[in-house]
Amino acid sequence: MTTSTALHDLTVAQLASLLRTRQVSALETAQHFLTRAHAHASLGAFLDFNEEATLCQARAADLALAAAGATPSLLGVPLAHKDIFVTRDFVSTAGSRMLAGYRSPFDASVVTRLAEQGAVTLGKLNCDEFAMGSANENSAFGPVKNPWDATRTPGGSSGGSAAAVAARLVPAATGTDTGGSIRQPASFCGVTGIKPTYGRASRYGMVAFASSLDQAGPMARTAQDCALLLSGMCGPDPDRDSTSLDVPAEDFTRLLNESVEGLRIGVPAEFFGEGLSDDVRAAVDAALKEYEKLGAKLVPISLPRTELSIPVYYVIAPAEASSNLSRFDGVKFGHRADQYTDLTDMYKKTRSEGFGDEVKRRIMIGTYVLSHGYYDAYYLQAQKIRRMIADDFQQAFKRCDVIAGPVAPTVAWKLGGHGNDPLADYLADIFTLPGSLAGLPGMSLPVGFGAHHMPVGLQLIGNYLQEAKLLNVTHRFQQATDWHMAKPEGF
Ligand code: GLN
Repeated sequence: MTTSTALHDLTVAQLASLLRTRQVSALETAQHFLTRAHAHASLGAFLDFNEEATLCQARAADLALAAAGATPSLLGVPLAHKDIFVTRDFVSTAGSRMLAGYRSPFDASVVTRLAEQGAVTLGKLNCDEFAMGSANENSAFGPVKNPWDATRTPGGSSGGSAAAVAARLVPAATGTDTGGSIRQPASFCGVTGIKPTYGRASRYGMVAFASSLDQAGPMARTAQDCALLLSGMCGPDPDRDSTSLDVPAEDFTRLLNESVEGLRIGVPAEFFGEGLSDDVRAAVDAALKEYEKLGAKLVPISLPRTELSIPVYYVIAPAEASSNLSRFDGVKFGHRADQYTDLTDMYKKTRSEGFGDEVKRRIMIGTYVLSHGYYDAYYLQAQKIRRMIADDFQQAFKRCDVIAGPVAPTVAWKLGGHGNDPLADYLADIFTLPGSLAGLPGMSLPVGFGAHHMPVGLQLIGNYLQEAKLLNVTHRFQQATDWHMAKPEGF
């Protein structure tokens, strides 16, 4: 286990313990993962490295490990961050040409907190432009390939994070989830990921997409690793994010080993309708059976407004995006057009050149639904239904402890498979959007393989602040099965 060839197969928990007992140094660990990340550059998972900064952090971790006394939980463990988080030592692009080469003067809160836990930053991970997308094909810097099949998408928008973890280029990574961007790529790449309750993790320094939905979370191979990272990431940040929840940081590993005997798992009928492909249904059904074997009870429930979550989300998210992205005007930061006649022309050319097609589409939709005469018909209406969707969950949670279902209707599709049809991408978000609109915690865990031997994830949704419960329910499954151990060929 201590030879460098196997370092990348270790979980965060195993690696942290080897580091703590000094069987391996943080420096050799960082070097090992950097070499691997470069060797597999063709996956397209990484957007930026800063070897000097990484090795400097690793040396600092080694000094701290050598000193006696208590060590923070992630001391010397390499992590990589989705390029939505701004970082001082690495370029921060949010997957956009608009921010190509941009260096932030500060680190995002999540990045700072993980660094305080001793994590070593390996680099920045590719993602859809401003986190808008479901296939990582909207990145200005090229798509990411799925390690299970390089002709398929890793999912999005945290596609780089999911692919890097699945390919063992890094033991764990950060992601962000606005409408499914942690859960869906985790499912497509066969890794474990959790989006906590809205407000758990600070949004400070996360390039904003839809502020009322955006939330950071970890992606790793196991629930235990996600729990370790999440414990480091969360906590109030009142001075810098006014929507951060006033609940203290928690030890999310504390319930991991509780039994799931008697656990009531709600199974929403609407998640198992016509659109669900047979292969995904079979893997999800098998996972639910496994939970029954572990002593859980399945309870049929209804989330009647599931279908409405697509139009509701695709009104609210673009509305917020159109406002958030107005800051990219060529004046304050980012790209500025070379040639222009006056200020208006400079704005126009800068934004035409800097933003990709999907981002422009969302800005147009968002501006439209917020405009005079349409605001009531679209935006306000969407807000009302959003509230009803959240209420539906509260009705459901009277009868169950957690909700389970598929993450996405199919396994990962072929890169380019949805052609120029953004609607096909939007529709595939149907199972992740309801939980996002309600601000609930949700996670994805690998539960088998579907068509083309591509991974399938099970989605678990918990009530507000029930992350420790979700991680416990996932951990018990991972103690009983080994889907999370499966490894793509060639990695
Ligand atoms: N696929 C959704 C979108 O394109 C969700 C993205 C996300 O969660 N960041 O908006």
